[in-house]
Amino acid sequence: MDRRMMMDTIVVGAGTAGITAARLLHAAGQQVVVLEARDRVGGRTWTDRTAGFCVDRGASWIHGLTGNPLTGIVAALGMETREFTVGSFQAGGRPIADYDESLRLLDDDATREWTLDVDTADELLQATVAKSGHDESYAIAAERALAATGWEPERAERVRAFYRHRTEEQCGAEVEQVAAHGLDEDAIEGDEVIFPGGYDALPRALAEGLDVRLGMTVTAVTRSPAGVRVDTENESFEAAHVIVTVPLGVLKAGAIDFTPALPDAVAGPIARLGMGVFNKVFLQFEKQFWPDDVYAIRQHGPAGVPWHSWYDVSAVSGRPMLLTFAGGAWGREIEQKADDEVVSSVLSSLRKIYGDAVPEPVAHWITRWGSDPLALGSYSYVAVGASHHDHDAMAEPVDGVLHFAGEATWGRDPATVHGALCSGHRAAERVLGSPFSLAELTRGMNPST
Ligand SMILES: Cc1cc2nc3c(=O)[nH]c(=O)nc-3n(C[C@H](O)[C@H](O)[C@H](O)COP(=O)(O)OP(=O)(O)OC[C@H]3O[C@@H](n4cnc5c(N)ncnc54)[C@H](O)[C@@H]3O)c2cc1C
Repeated sequence: MDRRMMMDTIVVGAGTAGITAARLLHAAGQQVVVLEARDRVGGRTWTDRTAGFCVDRGASWIHGLTGNPLTGIVAALGMETREFTVGSFQAGGRPIADYDESLRLLDDDATREWTLDVDTADELLQATVAKSGHDESYAIAAERALAATGWEPERAERVRAFYRHRTEEQCGAEVEQVAAHGLDEDAIEGDEVIFPGGYDALPRALAEGLDVRLGMTVTAVTRSPAGVRVDTENESFEAAHVIVTVPLGVLKAGAIDFTPALPDAVAGPIARLGMGVFNKVFLQFEKQFWPDDVYAIRQHGPAGVPWHSWYDVSAVSGRPMLLTFAGGAWGREIEQKADDEVVSSVLSSLRKIYGDAVPEPVAHWITRWGSDPLALGSYSYVAVGASHHDHDAMAEPVDGVLHFAGEATWGRDPATVHGALCSGHRAAERVLGSPFSLAELTRGMNPST
């Protein structure tokens, strides 16, 4: 069947980037259609409500409220937030129960010493990164910084492990895969918050009133002087512009056929940037067995392999609940394991610390973003050989009609929801050919709570 429909702009993907772009263009008076392969809006913001409370299988945090456009937008939408400032894998900040190599809880002095060690090493790391080239890894820069501390091996090893976990969580990749400059843009300004009502309330609210077609898998994008044709499995659409927001993993896999082929200026960054894997494991328990008043639990040393950090997210679900992460190679590995195997592996790590106090969980949730064909990974990162410039270069308009948006295209804050949002705003402005205020996104919307 070939039912061609003429639009101003076609948006491919109904995640935060796509919905933002579509809503702004709609507000500017354009006729826009959003084509989404899944049966839901939100993409990598995905709240599971099947248990009667919210479990965010994708994004959870606003990483830094200060200077973040999301801060005003979630307020305008009336989304409830809860302060939770350890979402970006910080060493200190809010209270964390740190356990040492002998499984003993660090006292306040020891905790302070360890977080100071991270600060000291980070200062040296910044200096070594500044001198690093694009072909050097974060691992090489980190080793140079650790060597410069002059610390004895055990003290350096604790910070080395922290750096490994940092790239696994922030990039979904191993420390050897990430470029030395890969975390240059990683500064968090202000507190972080999570959403008791689920993060996907954001794209769902912004999608209201838009023409979003679910179950539409785009297979080809053809551009011509007259505009673009976008083919799904069953229908074709025509428009003056197309904004493609599918995840970098999907682009890398060649799931969409571009004709003519993408120019090197765009294809190069797609090939060079990395797509990391970062998975979540939530365990719900009958009652809490970990200390009160801590945001997170962290195990140092060999007992912290493979699971080292647990976040107390009971405040979101209203039930005793821990969240742990598997990033990089381990994140890919757990996708091949059965749920039972993953759960018992996490429990055996927790039992090293808390022994028999750890009961069997009453429920669990495990994500597998690397094998999700509509994501093929969790988020983008600057791989060795790539640069932050590659993110923005990917979004340079092709022949004035084909635009890319999405977290992978936003160099200032890739791998975030606000990066996705800003990239959608930029794409909309490029389609319009003039500035268009982001305030239009929520104009006339009433807070939902
Ligand atoms: C486990 C996890 C935890 C995260 N935690 C955080 C966090 O705490 N804070 C934060 O800021 N960010 C976090 N992120 C990152 C954040 O979720 C993403 O950066 C952001 O949601 C990406 O939005 P997007 O619009 O670029 O892409 P997406 O949301 O992935 O949207 C792209 C859409 O394209 C669709 N699509 C794919 N292929 C096709 C096709 N062929 N045809 C049609 N549609 C297609 C997809 O189904 C999807 O809906 C996390 C991500 C993951 C996976």
